[in-house]
Amino acid sequence: MLQDSQLSSTPQLSQATFDAFDSQIALLDRSGKIVVLNKAWKNNLINSCLSKNTSVGENYLNICKCRVGRDCKLIKQIAKEIEAIANLEKTEFRFNYSNEHLNQKNWLAIQVKQIKQGDWFGVLIIQEDITKYMQTELSLRSVVEGTAAVTGEDFFYSLVYHLTCALSVSYAFVTKCIETTIPERVCTLAFWCKEDFGQNFEYNIANTPCEQVIGGLSCYYPRNVQNIFPEDHDLYRLKAESYVGVPLINSSGKILGHLVVIDERPMEDGSIELSILKIFAARAAAELERQKAEQKLAYDALYDRLTDLPNRHLLTNHLNRALEKYRRDRNGKFAVFFLDLDRFKYVNDSLGHKSGDLLLMGISQRLTTCLRKSDILARLGGDEFAILLEEIQTLDEATKLAERIQQSLQTPFHLGIHEVFTSVSIGIAFSKPGVDSPEELLRNADIAMYKAKALGKSRYELFDETLHVQVVNRLHLETDFHHSLNRGEFRLHYQPIISLVDGRVTGFEALARWQHPQRGYVAPEEFIALAEETGMIISLGWWILQEVCYQLREWQIQLNNSSLTMGVNISQKQFSQPRLLDSLVQILETTGLEAHSLRLEITESLLMQDTQATMQTLTQLKALGCQLHLDDFGTGYSSLNYLHSLPIDALKIDRSFVEAIDSEGNNSEIVEAIVMMAKSLGLGVIAEGIETEAQLAKLQTLQCLYGQGYLFTKPLDARSLYTWLNSWANNRSSLEHFNK
Ligand code: C2E
Ligand code: MG
Ligand code: MG
Repeated sequence: MLQDSQLSSTPQLSQATFDAFDSQIALLDRSGKIVVLNKAWKNNLINSCLSKNTSVGENYLNICKCRVGRDCKLIKQIAKEIEAIANLEKTEFRFNYSNEHLNQKNWLAIQVKQIKQGDWFGVLIIQEDITKYMQTELSLRSVVEGTAAVTGEDFFYSLVYHLTCALSVSYAFVTKCIETTIPERVCTLAFWCKEDFGQNFEYNIANTPCEQVIGGLSCYYPRNVQNIFPEDHDLYRLKAESYVGVPLINSSGKILGHLVVIDERPMEDGSIELSILKIFAARAAAELERQKAEQKLAYDALYDRLTDLPNRHLLTNHLNRALEKYRRDRNGKFAVFFLDLDRFKYVNDSLGHKSGDLLLMGISQRLTTCLRKSDILARLGGDEFAILLEEIQTLDEATKLAERIQQSLQTPFHLGIHEVFTSVSIGIAFSKPGVDSPEELLRNADIAMYKAKALGKSRYELFDETLHVQVVNRLHLETDFHHSLNRGEFRLHYQPIISLVDGRVTGFEALARWQHPQRGYVAPEEFIALAEETGMIISLGWWILQEVCYQLREWQIQLNNSSLTMGVNISQKQFSQPRLLDSLVQILETTGLEAHSLRLEITESLLMQDTQATMQTLTQLKALGCQLHLDDFGTGYSSLNYLHSLPIDALKIDRSFVEAIDSEGNNSEIVEAIVMMAKSLGLGVIAEGIETEAQLAKLQTLQCLYGQGYLFTKPLDARSLYTWLNSWANNRSSLEHFNK
């Protein structure tokens, strides 16, 4: 107990100052006597331990200590703390506690402080009603705890359930906007209806309180909501009295749906409900976003973004299912189509990728119109599509579809301002015993598609086993080819070029040979194309050039004839090598061969390429001193118009025209025309493939000055050729065909 001597005089504080506060304030002197009691305290006695009649001058501590009943223990404890402060044992005390009044639980925060004014000491008690705050916190905590561990669809169910419990309302639901509908509709993701989850439902939001919420505004109607929205029959059905709703908004501000609680009773003011819903709306929006991202991932894994068609992965699943069915029942035949657009690269390169994309989308729509509902069209990537045609009875059904597809592509596509015609090459493989995997099926259809391409595109081909064997052989050949140069499997054969006037050997043509260890001789027609495709032509080409130069230099010396020349075939890829000229100069320097001894044989198709660059290279080669011959002349499309402007020295008449000359010397018109033209252009002519004496005689009458062919000799390796040269030199003069 405070001693009287410790009491000092009361401070001069205005009652009005204390009354201005909403918090309950009491000021005690050090003995516990009430000095000031503000208006808020007097008005709200339910939150205090004082009775109605308590007034200034009474001892607060004594009143507390004499308290009996339910809360007396707590009140006495608080009184003890206040006493400790009055005795200067403590300076401050804070405490939150609850009490019950008329069956209603209230929460109070009490704060007690030592107070000093001049030489007056006292105790200030400030008490606040934190019931609302605590209710919010407790509700929040219970919903957080209830939903913390749940994700996905369960989260929404858990959320509405815990919300109804925490807020003591009858209904709660969360919705998602259905994006494609006008007027706007939403569907519920979870709905708690009094005692249980209700069936999810969809509804129009027009003229409902939800309309405002989906419009982006949170709203609460603590009472009378049915009257405010008389057209919302659901409110009537639910006997709704109060309504609180908040929108679900994602990080970029888009409204995804809403979260609502409805009660059959009025709410006090709806503010607690509102703030709690706001907090969970953020979490629900995040959950919706996550779900969306998950769905997108799942979609991307199985569908092609551009065309929305199933992708290879999903097609593989369908193929597996079809195979499974076929294994169980051999009547369940099916076909797999592999489609590749013809000249798609051309569209992409010339009109741009956007047009390319438009074309792919257009194609996918066009293809879809050719199919039955049960057929599956997939995009495998790039310009490749596949179709699974299930339950077919005859091959006819498949080929008819292929024809229908070709037919449907006859109409052009409009890509912005461009009109584009396109076609597809189609390979078809059928289900058959022994073909057990989707990969094998697709590969077979792919092989057939390649055949369709090779046979001129815009057509279909059916797969059969021989095709497969061809492809496998080619694959092996390709693999072996990669090692062939390192293993020294290439040889050069030489065919002499003969003067048709006197039979002299004027030079040679070098012809490459691939001596495959198992397959034996592989023809240049087969491996030159392979070398071009694989890019190996570059290194092979240099090897040949080097060999040729060494060999010719050797023969020039051995035969004491430096006017001998050598023809080397130059492929298109090799010709367009930027280092062609430099490398050639270097080879000539190291071998000591004169540039004019070298005849570079190029084909007409090469001239069709980038003409300006081609012209420049030709001019440079010519300036270096090399001779340039146009090989296989007459088979290509060289424009006679600009033949005269090319820096070439001679034309080589293609073998097929020489071959046409019969034993009587007939059918020589083309050869004659070429010889005449060459002459008028001041070019030399060499006839290829002379096999008969009649051909030789005719060529001589036509005044074709040079030729090569089996009549003289087949191409020979260097050693055999040397022997042949000697015997030819001896026998030539005795041959009647030549001038002596
Ligand atoms: P090409 O340059 O027109 O070569 C002439 C072809 O005709 C050679 O075929 C030769 O063996 C053949 N031939 C010559 N005389 C006769 C004959 O009287 N009757 C018949 N039936 N054929 C005859 P080969 O050696 O099979 O070469 C074919 C083609 O492969 C060559 O045609 C050439 O375009 C290309 N080629 C050959 N070697 C090379 C090379 O080293 N590099 C490049 N890039 N291509 C080459
Ligand atoms: Mg040639
Ligand atoms: Mg030729």
